Amino acid sequence: KPTILWLRRDLRLADHPALVAACKTGGPVIPVFIHDDSVATLGAAPKWRLGLSLADLARALGDKDSRLILRKGEPLTVLRALAKETGAGAVHWSRLYDPQSIERDKGVKAALREDGLDAQSYAGHLMFEPWSVKTKAGGYYKVYSPMWRAVKDREVCAPLAVPANIPAPDHWPESDALEDWNMAAAMRRGAAICEPYQRVGEVAAMERLHDFTSDAIVDYKDDRNLPGVDGTSGLSENLALGEISPRQCWHAGMRARHDGAKGAEHWLKELVWREFAYHLMDHTPHILTDNWRREWSAFPWNEGGDTPEVLAWKQGRTGVPFVDAAMREMYVTGRMHNRARMIVASYLTKHLMTHWRIGLEWFADCLTDWDIASNAMGWQWAAGCGPDAAPYFRVFNPETQLDKFDPKRAYAERWIAEGQAEPPQTALSYFEAIPKRWGLDPSDSYPEPIVDLAEGRERALAAYSDRDF
Ligand code: FAD
Repeated sequence: KPTILWLRRDLRLADHPALVAACKTGGPVIPVFIHDDSVATLGAAPKWRLGLSLADLARALGDKDSRLILRKGEPLTVLRALAKETGAGAVHWSRLYDPQSIERDKGVKAALREDGLDAQSYAGHLMFEPWSVKTKAGGYYKVYSPMWRAVKDREVCAPLAVPANIPAPDHWPESDALEDWNMAAAMRRGAAICEPYQRVGEVAAMERLHDFTSDAIVDYKDDRNLPGVDGTSGLSENLALGEISPRQCWHAGMRARHDGAKGAEHWLKELVWREFAYHLMDHTPHILTDNWRREWSAFPWNEGGDTPEVLAWKQGRTGVPFVDAAMREMYVTGRMHNRARMIVASYLTKHLMTHWRIGLEWFADCLTDWDIASNAMGWQWAAGCGPDAAPYFRVFNPETQLDKFDPKRAYAERWIAEGQAEPPQTALSYFEAIPKRWGLDPSDSYPEPIVDLAEGRERALAAYSDRDF
């Protein structure tokens, strides 16, 4: 009997436990991706990027004489219909960990089993299942460093090979056409401007992993802080969609460490930050929507949506070069350097005293590496109300940060055209990417700071010290 392989954020063929298990049944395997509510509600950039990934996976499956079946609808209904059409006896998938997916998947599993189907979920999106990592007292980790110490010497199984053969059914069920899903609908800057910055699919991700771990990883400890330097792996978009697995990354990082690359340990630590984000989301799912430290609900955030200050932040027109360069980088490329993410998040939540949720939502619309757990943890960390948070009173100064991490202004000049006699194409492409209604032009003068940095800092600290946190 065929096995349906329900693909979600595991869009690869290698190191795929659910795929391997499906192939082992000996029957045909029917890979399916379902466009459900969780896809419909994605932000513009992650949805568009998902479309690129699906196209790539369909090609990769085609090369193995298999296919990617696309269906739209509520997953249980779709899977039931597909099982009936194909005579499938089993449905396999890789686990997701956000509360909505957990709820949906539990219901799907129970209902399919009642129907007599073998419904099975597998690991694959993480190295360590969130519930398998426990403090000595049996609780969960609220702070990163002890979690790192708890997992760093754990055995991580070697990645699984791509199955030699993905058995095909005699007759393929019908599939939607990917073009009809119009994944790019909300992403007008997509193909023309943003696409050259994407590294789409499993093959490209594995090549990058190989290149990074055999070269740039050596200097990662220092270079990872420099937004003007290509010093990080850039694999977050691939990890977010499961085009590569964290285990593959871990093993490549371990090999580099074994070969003496001095930055390797730092890189391995970053992979565990991703695990930590999932660990937190699993144990405290309110991290996605509410202040992780509940007492922060008393903080007087600006929650007023697109105020002129918020709009200036989104548009990269705050008059603070580090912030503006970063916001423009994100709009054009779908990515933003990690240090820059910390700076813009600190600036929004502290200098502009704006609720982190407003920033989180803008990131969810603009990032092609959008990841529900890492985005929430990053925002709550920067705002000061999260676990392992940067204390609220430690306010990043975007000017001194620029002096320290972009001393030659390579990053600022790459993204800010105003004031440059001959701006680079990157800076100009921002003006091609943004909506016309923003009414911006590279010949505009660069804005004065919308908030005096010292005054903004004092305002935030005063609001903080008024409260008994
Ligand atoms: P590398 O430096 O090469 O690190 C390797 C991998 O480790 C990354 O690909 C990523 O999977 C993981 N990683 C690295 N740093 C972190 C971190 N701080 N938290 C969690 N995982 C990490 N990351 C996302 O993947 N998606 C998001 O939506 C996201 N939103 C963020 C929002 C804010 C406000 C902040 C401060 C951080 C956010 N991050 C997010 C984390 C981090 O900025 C990115 O993972 C990183 O910039 C990706 O670049 P890279 O792949 O070159 O990372």
